[in-house]
Amino acid sequence: MKVGVLALQGAVAEHIRSIESVGAEGVAVKHPEQLQDIDGLIIPGGESTTIGKLMRKYGFIEAVQQFSSEGKPLFGTCAGLIVMAKKIEGGEEPHLGLMDISVSRNAFGRQRESFETDLDVKGLQEPLRAVFIRAPLITEVGEGVEALSTYNDEIVTARQKHLLVSSFHPELTDDVSLHKYFVEMIQEHNAAAR
Ligand code: GLN
Repeated sequence: MKVGVLALQGAVAEHIRSIESVGAEGVAVKHPEQLQDIDGLIIPGGESTTIGKLMRKYGFIEAVQQFSSEGKPLFGTCAGLIVMAKKIEGGEEPHLGLMDISVSRNAFGRQRESFETDLDVKGLQEPLRAVFIRAPLITEVGEGVEALSTYNDEIVTARQKHLLVSSFHPELTDDVSLHKYFVEMIQEHNAAAR
């Protein structure tokens, strides 16, 4: 199984390492044509405005929307979550507009620009070590969206069918359980599509 990591900007190598440690092949995706060779795609953390701009410039917006319309799994972390959202608070245009969530950028305030915590995540057996860096929050979810974890009553991990998002950076620790969860989503999709 091949899992792509969108490699325009942000934490790419760390996601590839996490994917490989759960037994799948990790591929840095730099051209839209590469989407044809992968089973799932991770959109990493970084800076969402920059990632969105580069996606437009290199023809990724429609290509990833097409990829998603085939039911192929997508996992957005931090800036990647913002890129996947249908609504960004403050009037900014959405990028991919795939997932039925509203997000607020840099929502933890200045004092808490970055921090780590242990989170209970639905579907994972052990609490997950989560690293938040200028993280966004999910402020609203549509009907088909399930909250998988919360921090101070705010949603920080969510799933809508084949779409998974986290406010934090799961690739910055040795805890690869959320990557394993994503790889299992891909296995389920591949088994159903066969
Ligand atoms: N603050 C960034 C943004 O709004 C996201 C930060 C991150 O990905 N660590 O795009």
